[in-house]
Amino acid sequence: MSEKWNIILKVLRQKQGETSHFDEYKMDADPDEYVLDVVERVWAFKDRTVCFRHACHHSTCGACGMRVNDAEKLTCITYIREVTRDGGTLKVEPLRNFPVVSDLVVDMGSLYRRLEAVGARSVLPAPEAEIEKPPSRWSSDDEQYIRLADCIECGLCISACPAAATSSDYLGPAVLAGAQANGLKLNPELLNMVDSEDGVWRCHSAFECTAVCPSFVDPARRIMDLRTQIFKERVGGLFRKA
Ligand code: SF4
Repeated sequence: MSEKWNIILKVLRQKQGETSHFDEYKMDADPDEYVLDVVERVWAFKDRTVCFRHACHHSTCGACGMRVNDAEKLTCITYIREVTRDGGTLKVEPLRNFPVVSDLVVDMGSLYRRLEAVGARSVLPAPEAEIEKPPSRWSSDDEQYIRLADCIECGLCISACPAAATSSDYLGPAVLAGAQANGLKLNPELLNMVDSEDGVWRCHSAFECTAVCPSFVDPARRIMDLRTQIFKERVGGLFRKA
């Protein structure tokens, strides 16, 4: 028989026009189940008004990111025993640095728009999906279409990023990691975009993004590498002009 813990689930509730507050639910939880399972049980058996996102349940879609006891987690792969104890509290909040839609649901539109701006579109329009290499902002000799396959676009890195909290215009770790994945194939427009105050230079090298990334993308290292690429490109440009 599986072990059962008694825990208190605290959910940050935020509806339009209402003051935000925590609702508490007494729950039985198996330490070997996932945080998302417990949130789903609250919705299924205790409170149908709790809003949250989820889809694949196996860390592929990136939909179920939340802050769990003050740390960014992909809740479908975060065991209860990792984040609380028998008799303990499980506090769940929405990701930071995104507008809240309702309760635990945030608007990820800014991430998707920025990924598209650096050529890493999450979803290809139907006609383009048919062809091998979609028309893009890359020059004709570009071999690869920029897309960082490991990134599940969950937004955890942006929520954890202290620099993202200082500017809503910051491109952010996931987008800069996507740009880095393209190596030195930056075209001038993209080079200017990433070589800017709201590009790689806003990063404080704190590595919080890498610490929370559930996909081992290591965005902080990629940002450092992108800085090196930019430096080489700029210095090389000076010599090309001379
Ligand atoms: S870099 Fe990692 S944490 Fe950031 S969006 Fe991609 S998978 Fe999520």
